[in-house]
Amino acid sequence: MTRQENLVKASHLIDMTDVIREGNPTLREVASDVTLPLSDEDIILGEKMLDFLRNSQDPVTAEKMGLRGGVGLAAPQLDVSKKIIACLVPKDLESEGAPANDAYTLATVMYNAKIVSHSVQDAALADGEGCLSVDREVPGYVVRHARVTIEYIDKNNEKKRLKLKGYDAMVVQHEIDHTNGIMFYDRINETNPFAVKDGMLIIE
Ligand SMILES: [Zn+2]
Repeated sequence: MTRQENLVKASHLIDMTDVIREGNPTLREVASDVTLPLSDEDIILGEKMLDFLRNSQDPVTAEKMGLRGGVGLAAPQLDVSKKIIACLVPKDLESEGAPANDAYTLATVMYNAKIVSHSVQDAALADGEGCLSVDREVPGYVVRHARVTIEYIDKNNEKKRLKLKGYDAMVVQHEIDHTNGIMFYDRINETNPFAVKDGMLIIE
């Protein structure tokens, strides 16, 4: 049975034991585009990735399943080298408890997502970034595009185009990076991790 066949079994819930960590070569590969129309396997994997994020954000479920909270997950993190990403960004990141269904700014599985244009302006999250595949803190500004336009295929095989800014733009860029073998700390200035280039937006 392939890795993906195991992950998409009806009885399987993705948990932290499915998430590979830095050092695993899959995280450094450029993942393959998924073939269209989408296979059932790729659709189910996407759903399960979103389920994982939902579970990870529910304090009770997360505790029970031993999950670290996450807002994004990419298939390469599950050792499946395909361009599949899931993003689940709650509207109010500070809110307590599991958010209701309409409480997300982004709740999507994206296939073959790519950046088609971006702002000249850069941006970084004030608190830096973390990653489910990185079991340590790496402080510093992760320098990304402040605004991006992305294209992807949705779960219904429809081509979508989306403009993103702010936190959502950072999350999606982090996940697209995973499908290109890039880790968040690759984008931190090595000599001065908190360097702020002229005009760079710091997102609180
Ligand atoms: Zn990550």
